[in-house]
Amino acid sequence: TNPHTALASLSDDDLAGFLAEQREAYAALRARGLKLDLTRGKPSAAQLDLSDALLALPSTTKDRAGVDVRNYGGLEGLAELREMFAELLWVEPSQVVAGGNSSLTMMYSTIVDFLLFGGVDSPRPWSQEDTVRFVCPVPGYDRHFSMLAAFGIEMVTVDMHDDGPDIAAVEALVKDDPSIKGIWIVPTYANPSGAVVSQEIAARLAAMPTAAPDFTIFWDNAYAFHHLTEVEAKSADILTLAAASGHPNRPIMFASTSKITFAGAGVAVLAASEANVKWYLKHLSMSSIGPDKVNHLRHVEFFKDAEGVRAHMRGHRDIIAPKFAAVDEALTEGLDGLEVAEWSHPTGGYFVNLDVLDGTASRVVALAKEAGIALTPAGASFPHGHDPRDRNIRLAPTFPVLDEVRTAMAGVATCVALAAAEKVTA
Ligand code: PLP
Repeated sequence: TNPHTALASLSDDDLAGFLAEQREAYAALRARGLKLDLTRGKPSAAQLDLSDALLALPSTTKDRAGVDVRNYGGLEGLAELREMFAELLWVEPSQVVAGGNSSLTMMYSTIVDFLLFGGVDSPRPWSQEDTVRFVCPVPGYDRHFSMLAAFGIEMVTVDMHDDGPDIAAVEALVKDDPSIKGIWIVPTYANPSGAVVSQEIAARLAAMPTAAPDFTIFWDNAYAFHHLTEVEAKSADILTLAAASGHPNRPIMFASTSKITFAGAGVAVLAASEANVKWYLKHLSMSSIGPDKVNHLRHVEFFKDAEGVRAHMRGHRDIIAPKFAAVDEALTEGLDGLEVAEWSHPTGGYFVNLDVLDGTASRVVALAKEAGIALTPAGASFPHGHDPRDRNIRLAPTFPVLDEVRTAMAGVATCVALAAAEKVTA
């Protein structure tokens, strides 16, 4: 039931006909005067509404121990919230710090601490090294890369596969090069590919020999609980794996409720070895007397326990799974069989990864823009915004309402087909 024939197999005449058809379809698309935005992975209003009960909480001003949450103190965060996250992330409460509303801020301050002071296993601060490099699986999260660029940290890319980063390439890089100090990993439903790091690859990341004694895995589990199907992927237990391999301080884990409760008013956590937690808190104590414990308590009352978080995530799934299905339907309808595009079928997270014909991603994004469909800039998922093959586009379907997702994705399919037709006939 494949309505399309591979472009590569068409005769010149048929190709010219196909190009003319796509030009017509695109003209019709432009004439509709759409104004749609699929640029950022933000929760929709309907998702935010799921957490509105938070606005009337907390119902008390005291935590479990009787401490007044309105006051200063408790730098490591509310004990009951740390316990809840410990259960969700399969770590010990003593390994968890509950912070402010942004895990990205915690990642940033962690790297700043490495640069200024060095970590638990660092011979010296990273800023005293000639060169600092990170391994960056691509495609990846744009803000991870822009953060490193802002620090002058060099990025070495490896491919992201369906089961995690190209582990043989990672092992080869870190083995002999002491300037490689870290790697970004989004282990569960990666941004943007949706890949889940397998147990085997997590174990190899935890155990691999590294030339730098303070090589650090920045394990950004932003989408740990964001399942789109009933099969709930379990993140590898990186802290235990690393400790068992003799590298207890190698991983630092991050997560937040940005896409669980409110993106702008949730709670972020860091989890790591007790030595790393002590190191992080020592430096944090120079910049803070304590976190927003009122918000911590509000979240504890709202969820009650770890199961409360899981149940809440099923509410999100009901809202966003149909949008992901709509993306797949529209792309299949418009592109299946042409052999000019491949896209991911994520079982969780916030994104669909669309790979178009090499050299056409920028053109697709420009065509979409002219037709009133805003997409994430081509190349955004690569360091310095540069995709060497100019083929990768990140689609973010959560924010618009379902009908808009359908319309936008049908339009994107038209742009992909037109750009491909232009390319092969050029
Ligand atoms: N990490 C990843 C992989 C993300 O995709 C995002 C948001 O898009 C964040 C972190 C941001 O997290 P936070 O809102 O906790 O700063």
